[in-house]
Amino acid sequence: MTRHLKMYINGEWVASSSETTVNVIDPATQEVIAVASNTTKEETEEAIKTAKRTFESGVWSDLLPQERASVLRKIAEKMEDNENTLIDLEVQNNGKTKREADSDVQDAINCFRYYADLLNTTSDQTYEASEDLQTLIVKEPIGTAGLIVPWNFPLLMSVWKIAPALAAGNTIILKPAEITPLTAVKLFELMDETDLPKGVANLILGLGSEAGQTISESKDVDIVSFTGSTAVGRHIMKAATGNMKKVSLEMGGKSPNIIFDDADLDTAVDYALFGIYMGAGQVCTSGSRILVQEGIYDKFVKNYIERAKAIKVGPGHDENAEMGAIVSQKHLENILEYVQIGKEEGAHLALGGSKIKSGELEKGLFFEPTIFTNVTNDMRIVQEEIFGPIVTIQKFKDEDDAIKTANDTDYGLAGAVFSKDQNKALRLIKKIRAGITWVNTYHLTDEQAPWGGYKQSGIGRSLGTYGLDEYQETKQININLAPEPIHWFE
Ligand code: NAD
Repeated sequence: MTRHLKMYINGEWVASSSETTVNVIDPATQEVIAVASNTTKEETEEAIKTAKRTFESGVWSDLLPQERASVLRKIAEKMEDNENTLIDLEVQNNGKTKREADSDVQDAINCFRYYADLLNTTSDQTYEASEDLQTLIVKEPIGTAGLIVPWNFPLLMSVWKIAPALAAGNTIILKPAEITPLTAVKLFELMDETDLPKGVANLILGLGSEAGQTISESKDVDIVSFTGSTAVGRHIMKAATGNMKKVSLEMGGKSPNIIFDDADLDTAVDYALFGIYMGAGQVCTSGSRILVQEGIYDKFVKNYIERAKAIKVGPGHDENAEMGAIVSQKHLENILEYVQIGKEEGAHLALGGSKIKSGELEKGLFFEPTIFTNVTNDMRIVQEEIFGPIVTIQKFKDEDDAIKTANDTDYGLAGAVFSKDQNKALRLIKKIRAGITWVNTYHLTDEQAPWGGYKQSGIGRSLGTYGLDEYQETKQININLAPEPIHWFE
């Protein structure tokens, strides 16, 4: 029997009245593992009203920060008790490897704990504006938060929004990506077992064009926090103007990974593989443009192709699999289209470029690790986010050339530099116009560091204290310590 997923509104699991549904599949087999109803516009409005009413009641925002922290800790504990289920669901629904899903689940648990801890520190300030005037600067929740997340890190992206939004005292409506709702549903089941008051956290399912659009347009939503493609982010920003709600946007990338002649070759090759093939390239910060200095270019490319060839692609639950599946048939077709575009643009396909059709993998959505060389910066495969296991490798001359090429993009999410010369590496990384950067490493980060992009990669920051700020208003309270008439108008 296929499982029919329900929405969670005002503390109840409710079936949608919608007649249309989305099949939730396992990308490793393409079998339907659940069916999600498309939450209707009216149902989305109901969820928003519930969140607004609950916010105004003060059942959550009026709690002491320590009281909210204890609920967040309880959620983390429940997740820990159910970590294997969460890992399995993520592997099954997204197609990522068990190792990747494990790391996502641990990060998600840490994120709840981090924001619980942050609630026990104070960010409020006070100062004497003048002899008789004391000013307090306080943080308050924004209100009702609409949280819209993508399919590539279904649980982690949800938690990066839920944990700080709840910590700050907001009420929420979460909309996971239509094709990957399973871990979000499980998370809400776990939250339901805690003391989180009814109506604080609401879950809707279904399409961006209906449920997502309704959140973005609603006058009852005070902040929309979105992670996804730049195209949809642009649309959400426009839709949000109706009530000038706050927007927080984490969007796409086309990140440069710059490797100098003096880098340790093995280390650089290793991280460059990790940079693009982790998550089968379906990671916003993927190092999808490798720039290599001319002195080691040939050696690097040879070495890199050999290592990429050896990557074991397979179902996420297979302990030997190093790279998992592509999330959907539709997305796999997008990736294939870019291979064709690359060939037509005159790039050299040095490795891969096809769906894997051999043996057991045939029935799943597996794609070969793919490499294009002989590319120029004006090519679409170098400029556009492909979001798959496709990397382009370019040659550069010197520091100026590297910076110019690296920054010649509409995106500004991430970037890395590999060199044994720490001064040079730091000099370069400071010139990269991107929000998340690395020196002699890739992808490593944690919940304390602010996450977000420059240019068309984002507005605002997730995580760290910045992530809490996103979900807070800041107020000044000016207190007259010696009240008497001001006599401005005599
Ligand atoms: P997407 O933009 O297609 O969808 C993201 C979410 O938006 C989904 O829940 C979708 O249903 C919803 N949506 C779609 N249309 C909408 C509309 N009109 N109004 C409101 N909501 C709508 O993105 P995706 O394909 O799910 O994810 C891949 C993208 O996400 C990539 O571009 C990737 O770079 C980006 N991403 C960015 C970060 C980051 O931190 N910057 C992290 C992960 C993913």
